[in-house]
Amino acid sequence: MKMVAEKPKIVIIGAGMAGLTAAHRLYTAAIGVKESFELCVVEGGQRIGGRINTTEFGGDRIEMGATWIHGICGSPVYEIAQKIKSLESEKSWECMDDLFEEKLSTSETRAEDGFLVNPAIVEPISSLFQKLMSFAQSKAEKVDVSGMQMSSIGSFLKLGLEQYWDSRKGKAEDEEEVKMFGNWSRKMLEEAIFGVFENTQRTYTGAGDLLNLDYAAESEYRMFSGDEITIPKGYITIIQSLASVLPPGMIQLGRKVVKIEWLGSENYDDHSSSKPVKLHFCDGSVMQADHVIVTVSLGVLKAGISEESEGGLFSPPLPSLKKEAILKLGYGVVNKLFLQLSQEEGNLCKIPFMKMVFHREDSEFRHKKIPWWMRKTASVYPIYNNSSVLLSWFAGKEALELESLDDETIIDGFSTTVSSFISNMNQFQQIGNGLDEQMGH
Ligand SMILES: Cc1cc2nc3c(=O)[nH]c(=O)nc-3n(C[C@H](O)[C@H](O)[C@H](O)COP(=O)(O)OP(=O)(O)OC[C@H]3O[C@@H](n4cnc5c(N)ncnc54)[C@H](O)[C@@H]3O)c2cc1C
Repeated sequence: MKMVAEKPKIVIIGAGMAGLTAAHRLYTAAIGVKESFELCVVEGGQRIGGRINTTEFGGDRIEMGATWIHGICGSPVYEIAQKIKSLESEKSWECMDDLFEEKLSTSETRAEDGFLVNPAIVEPISSLFQKLMSFAQSKAEKVDVSGMQMSSIGSFLKLGLEQYWDSRKGKAEDEEEVKMFGNWSRKMLEEAIFGVFENTQRTYTGAGDLLNLDYAAESEYRMFSGDEITIPKGYITIIQSLASVLPPGMIQLGRKVVKIEWLGSENYDDHSSSKPVKLHFCDGSVMQADHVIVTVSLGVLKAGISEESEGGLFSPPLPSLKKEAILKLGYGVVNKLFLQLSQEEGNLCKIPFMKMVFHREDSEFRHKKIPWWMRKTASVYPIYNNSSVLLSWFAGKEALELESLDDETIIDGFSTTVSSFISNMNQFQQIGNGLDEQMGH
């Protein structure tokens, strides 16, 4: 009797971008290959895509998670998007044309009391921030700035702002100016504008606090060059395209892995029916595998190796080198908040791309009704010109708080905040115009 050798089995845990890319690569590489393998993707949730999730809101197509292709030159995501014609759409989508098509003339920077901040004040701070970040991103090693060892992006930026002020000493700070900015001195205003850029950076990096963002590592992050764009037909079309080559049934949904058990290398033999890895699922079922590709998020990995986690995700526990790597890497929470203006509101006020400059948390001038979780929100803007859907990004503990609040509280806190920037628009535009003239704009 001739024994039929069982094909080795590869199981991929997670059907997000990483898991599906691995599945797509393996499956297409094995087509037509005689000695191939069995493949399976197990996903804990009820849908594919993980942190990529395109949906509809207020009649527009929105991205709940990943939004941008960060640089199109050489990007495999862009290549797929082009191939499947996802770069054009009849339907309105979160195109963010104000952000990246340099239509920034329609953007405004407003301070908490409602006044329009003169671009002549915003621009030097904006270019200072860009300069500091490109410096941090291009340095391969820790640098010594003014004799200080830099450990975090937060401390580097703080020092950069201090040095900027030192360089301007005696040039601009006079009583006349203090009066011109209402409750704000120029320094307070500049610090708060700098804070807007810091807060945007927090949402880019997922760092709740930039003091926790490693300075040396910043230069290791590589982006593709070229335009940063959104995908008109939705990021999810990339996911669907990757998954479309896989035969039906290869992706199993609702299959949360609770333990990855390594039975020992003595069981390792690609041609034997006993396999070296046993996956345990939350419903008590098991699956054997020869190889496992784990693509769960860093947060799931951290929870899975923590002392408190019951039994842990890995049995036996991962070697300490791997554990240390998982523990050392940081991660954070980033959330997007979408709100739709009622038709009435939409007609009453047209919200521009608005950067929001807040007073310090301890300032006597701060608007007491603005909730603390809104105070690090850098901006609010319609998802495309004239859309009634507004978007703001949240990071860190503010993002976590948002998750715990009900819709009514969020809408209330958000409206209170936005109206404190916009309701006095006419009154403060006057001040803004005054400044425009004074600063030669
Ligand atoms: C709000 C937000 C905005 C973002 N914006 C951008 C952007 O503009 N551009 C960009 O490039 N990136 C962006 N990102 C990051 C991007 O979404 C992620 O880097 C990417 O989607 C991660 O893919 P992944 O496959 O590694 O992980 P995930 O998408 O997290 O996939 C992991 C999968 O594993 C599953 N899983 C977890 N545990 C188990 C288990 N025990 N058993 C079985 N399955 C399990 C999860 O359900 C999930 O489906 C953003 C992220 C967020 C949250």
